[in-house]
Amino acid sequence: AAKDRPVRTAYYGTELESGGTLAPLVIGELRGALEAGDIVVYYQPQVEIGTGRVFGVEALSRWQHPVYGLLGPDSFIQAAERTGMIGTFTQFVLDAALEQCARWRAEGLVLTVAVNLSVLNLLDRGLVEDVQAALDRHGLSPTVLELELTEGSAMVDPRRSRQVLGALSGMGVTLSIDDYGTGYSSLAYLQKLPVRRLKIDRSFVAGILDDAASAAIVRSTVELARHLGLDVIAEGVEDDETLLALRDMQCHAAQGFGLGRPVPGPQLPEVVRRIHDR
Ligand code: C2E
Ligand code: CA
Ligand code: CA
Ligand code: CA
Repeated sequence: AAKDRPVRTAYYGTELESGGTLAPLVIGELRGALEAGDIVVYYQPQVEIGTGRVFGVEALSRWQHPVYGLLGPDSFIQAAERTGMIGTFTQFVLDAALEQCARWRAEGLVLTVAVNLSVLNLLDRGLVEDVQAALDRHGLSPTVLELELTEGSAMVDPRRSRQVLGALSGMGVTLSIDDYGTGYSSLAYLQKLPVRRLKIDRSFVAGILDDAASAAIVRSTVELARHLGLDVIAEGVEDDETLLALRDMQCHAAQGFGLGRPVPGPQLPEVVRRIHDR
């Protein structure tokens, strides 16, 4: 079906089928796209495995490009970082996601919302104030918000990022480690950060049925995380067999195409209903 077609993920600087490269295009147009409302946020459900309940969503940005169609974030996030626009971009996504979260609440759908941070956002001391302002603007408690960062991002400038992370966590915002397992950090190191949750990268999750090593990595991560008091979400769960295997490993939560694809905000309640009816 058309909706199962993946969004385009041309990388920064790669050639487009139509000729030319994406780089000059996105640099010149991204700001305009934000102003024109062409950047849209999709939401993918996160499910508690034990109960089958949807408790939250991850916000994933898309560019509804007038010429190239729906572009995935891999084609413009890097450009936003390189052109000094990532602060503005993250603010936009944060505000859109919290606005949507407040709207769902008004409809009786209570969900947490997770927003992806770029490494560069952590070096920006203004982030903490901006997050608080966005929460206030939509009348939301910090506990509805989760911020995802990759393993290495707190290592770029450990002192500064620790201040930022400490302040966010002190406010009551949940911090999680994205793509866990793909970096080089140890849980011993991560445990020193005010992090509450690990998201196990889909490259491990996808292999747990066929690959003993992937299964061992996921199983031991779940166990170790439990001992450290961290929550675990398995990313990239594409089928029921994988979900059952994760349940046997006592993994807390799951996210993936097998449960629900990212969809525009207004479509999410229907996706949630479908998951609850499974
Ligand atoms: P991520 O944070 O690891 O997000 C998960 C990605 O995996 C999403 O791709 C999602 O659509 C995809 N995915 C989810 N379930 C499955 C599955 O079962 N199978 C497979 N094959 N893929 C699955 P997407 O939306 O293209 O995003 C790519 C990356 O772009 C994200 O990876 C994240 O690092 C970044 N990103 C997305 N939105 C934002 C944003 O607003 N700000 C920043 N800084 N980065 C963003
Ligand atoms: Ca993420
Ligand atoms: Ca991830
Ligand atoms: Ca990723």
